[in-house]
Amino acid sequence: MATSTKWIPYGRQDVREEDIAAVVEVLRSDWLTTGPAVPAFEKALAKTVGATDAVAVSSGTAALHAAYASLGIGPGDEVIVPAMTFAATSNAALYLGARPVFADVDPDTLLVDPEDVQRKITARTRVIVAVDYAGQPCDYDALRHVARSHGLPLVADACHALGASFRGQPVGSLADLTAFSFHPVKTITTGEGGMVTTNDPDRARWIRSFRNHGITTDHRERSESGTVSYDMVVLGYNYRLTDFQAALGMSQLTRLDEILAGRCALVALYDRKLAGIPHVRSLRRLPERSHANHLYVVRLDTEALALSREQVLSRLRGAGVGANVHYRPPYLHPYYRDRFATSEGLCPIAEEAARQIVTLPLFPQMAESDVDHVLEALRSLSR
Ligand SMILES: *Cc1c(COP(=O)(O)O)cnc(C)c1O
Repeated sequence: MATSTKWIPYGRQDVREEDIAAVVEVLRSDWLTTGPAVPAFEKALAKTVGATDAVAVSSGTAALHAAYASLGIGPGDEVIVPAMTFAATSNAALYLGARPVFADVDPDTLLVDPEDVQRKITARTRVIVAVDYAGQPCDYDALRHVARSHGLPLVADACHALGASFRGQPVGSLADLTAFSFHPVKTITTGEGGMVTTNDPDRARWIRSFRNHGITTDHRERSESGTVSYDMVVLGYNYRLTDFQAALGMSQLTRLDEILAGRCALVALYDRKLAGIPHVRSLRRLPERSHANHLYVVRLDTEALALSREQVLSRLRGAGVGANVHYRPPYLHPYYRDRFATSEGLCPIAEEAARQIVTLPLFPQMAESDVDHVLEALRSLSR
């Protein structure tokens, strides 16, 4: 019998008093939006990831939309995305009228398979999108090679991977454009929020305009130069991040190393203690990378357990473990099935994995006793 009815969510924000103070300070200032906190946060994040430019936006999804739009993607174009990702990665292509084409993943890491990306390239392909699934950087050397040999840009959906690196180079400076998310379950949070990083100042300028209705100057710039007129040059959106959100992000960013170290220590505990549990294995970790440990995903031998994954989820959740699934391939959602007539068989490795994976709770304030509770619930599955 479980003695604890405590609920352990799969992820949770870590907001401290100093974060709250930083937000309150902005709330008392002159600028709630388009003020100085946004560029300060952008500059700090660009520095963290080794990029020359960073543009803050209102979500990770807006970051992907802006990144794809800045490449001029439109109707008739194909965007190659991994099959193992959140729907936002492919939805952002749909916003532009483009068609997402799904590439399969490696069965041990669930990272996109560069050879399948290569196979999915057609004359209509306009961009390749990488996803650093669970926080582990994908094979950027191979992906850049495939992209370059076809003259295609590489976009990274690094919504899981702030603080990760590949061969010593931080995620955020490995692709032509990189998208980050600051949703509360992600590495750092602004409530809702996102960022695009790039080393291309022209593209950064374009995205700055795109997030502000396609207007060339923002409110503060006009106020400072004493003018009220402006030009709208592209069809943009209101994708701005507020200054109090930027202040929260900035404050969180100063603790990034601490947050990553906390996640890393919990993963080491999971890895060590999971080793003795039958029918459950964790994903493979590759060399030459530092992992952001956004998600702790295990793969179940559902046959040996004689339980479906849905039964496993309900048993774990019944024991207070907020287990989750990341992800069902986007093309198996009803919208995609209806619109593109997609079905099972498109990316068999991702589909098989999607039936067997479970995401276990992982967030910096978890105690060792929480990890033990999760593992006890897993152990009891085979009894
Ligand atoms: C969270 C996430 C997004 C979307 O980010 P939001 O900030 O929630 O819009 C996109 N892609 C991946 C892989 C994500 O995990």
